[in-house]
Amino acid sequence: MSSQVSSSFNRDQSSPSAVDVVVVGAGFSGLYLLHKLRALGMRTRVFEGASDVGGTWYWNRYPGARCDVESMQYSYSFSDDLQQEWRWSERFSAQPEILRYAEHVADRFDLRRDIQFDTLVTTAHFDEESRCWNIETNRGDRVSASFLIMATGCLSSTRLPDFKGLEKFSGKTYHTGNWPHEEVDFSGQRVGVIGTGSSAIQAIPVIAEQAAQLTVFQRTPNYSIPSRNDAMTPDYELQWKSDYAALRAEARKSRNGVLTNPNDVSALAVPDAERQRVYEARWEVGGTYFMSAFNDLATNQQSNDTAAAFVRDKIRSIVRDPEVAELLAAKDYPIGTKRICVDTNYFETFNRDNVTLVDVRDAPIEEITETGLVTGGRSFAFDAIVFATGFDAMTGALLKVDIQGRGGLALAEKWHAGPRTYLGLMSEGFPNMFMITGPGSPSVLSNMMVSIQQHVDWVVDGLAYLRAGNLDTIEPMREAEDNWVEHVNDVAHQTLFPQANSWYMGANIPGKPRLFMPYIGGVGTYRETCDEIAANGYKGFYLEAAKQREVTAAE
Ligand code: NAP
Repeated sequence: MSSQVSSSFNRDQSSPSAVDVVVVGAGFSGLYLLHKLRALGMRTRVFEGASDVGGTWYWNRYPGARCDVESMQYSYSFSDDLQQEWRWSERFSAQPEILRYAEHVADRFDLRRDIQFDTLVTTAHFDEESRCWNIETNRGDRVSASFLIMATGCLSSTRLPDFKGLEKFSGKTYHTGNWPHEEVDFSGQRVGVIGTGSSAIQAIPVIAEQAAQLTVFQRTPNYSIPSRNDAMTPDYELQWKSDYAALRAEARKSRNGVLTNPNDVSALAVPDAERQRVYEARWEVGGTYFMSAFNDLATNQQSNDTAAAFVRDKIRSIVRDPEVAELLAAKDYPIGTKRICVDTNYFETFNRDNVTLVDVRDAPIEEITETGLVTGGRSFAFDAIVFATGFDAMTGALLKVDIQGRGGLALAEKWHAGPRTYLGLMSEGFPNMFMITGPGSPSVLSNMMVSIQQHVDWVVDGLAYLRAGNLDTIEPMREAEDNWVEHVNDVAHQTLFPQANSWYMGANIPGKPRLFMPYIGGVGTYRETCDEIAANGYKGFYLEAAKQREVTAAE
């Protein structure tokens, strides 16, 4: 079965290094891809840089790491047995439990036998003659594949700023996005944390409980909502599991792929007291639900101001030192336009005697020294420094690989002014190369599990369509791509998002092109668009058959 199917794509199957599909990455995208591609009878090889499955949940083992999408929603829906049998212990799962889930999925569907771990794909070049991707790894593998699927994740390429003197520090350094596997014990230590994004906001309260002294270096304060995380109750679990099919279907149609009980009313349409009541209620429920309190927080500055002011007041009521509270209260960008954070006791942590906040906005970190760091002319001594400095988001992991498409065009060259894709799935000039949750798709603005499954289903259905039609090449048309890029940009500019210096905009990396990378039109709308395009014979894509080309060449 498998070889018969394979032969429709690969003309030379005699070589053991020729497969139908190479998948890069064994996180939640790569695992589901492998499962689906196998079901389609595709010979698939997955390469993964880590020593095991899990992707982001393999690497981000920092203290306090936790998902801020509820466990009942941050999970696969493709197998009813899996979603019924797996039991989450908390409302918001911690990293170890999510990693165990990924491992369980790998075992349950017997996925590991087609995954080569500890292997990084270094180059992927499209050969126009054979219409195959020639792929090489850092371990000397050379594989040719009819299709290449980049399941490399949006937040997987860690970013360490180019601090002067970094190599001089004699203590330990850590990056939240690449945390050691063995337990890190900060007991009795002087620890510095650089950064106050989602990762830092989760790690700081936990590190503060261990460390003798914790100093937090903040450049930009973040808005954060308490998670109100708690143990999963049997009632809540049953509520989901007894109606999973319908609830998942609703999430797929929703704006962000998460059911957040959205309130379809403008924040300006209700009296002040009512608005405060709504915010208060959402604050008590906890989590990102807060941002669904009204329907125009992402689009109307005045409405957004009311939510931002509410959160600032909360910070002032929690943090005892008024100066520290003011430093922690974000003021110069709309709430939600940098990724909203979700925490457990983050602001409360600044009431501890062993925690100090240092503002580095006006006095940047000058250098790392042998004993610590210097900022604003002040020296700080540390036993350990934690860099919670984020990622080269959305494009970093893709551009780390030397990808060359038709005519030797490098993806990095094509994207020099910012990523250009059709639907965030493919890029013109790179036939048969797909991206899962690529730039130009809802990706990071959504529940990744919903978006990953939608992309994987769409790609695998597309491959089945090609096979059924004896076609072997798919590539976006230039015009379709240009229109999509323009649409992504237009929709973003109908919101407040472009106002913030966020990683969504590439603003956290000096020199990175500034444009809003994810698609903010909504998960449900996006799905409909993708489905319509497929139903119309993959409108906007060139589909070609090898035979056609051979005939044309002979003429
Ligand atoms: P991040 O949001 O990019 O935060 C990086 C932090 O480092 C920012 O506070 C940034 O300040 C600071 N920073 C960077 N360079 C600096 C420098 N030279 N000097 C001083 N400060 C510097 O990264 P992250 O916290 O790892 O989060 C990334 C994303 O991962 C999140 O937005 C979220 O999507 C995802 N995530 C999700 C969860 C969850 O589900 N709960 C948890 C963790 C991460 P500026 O803001 O001034 O640039």
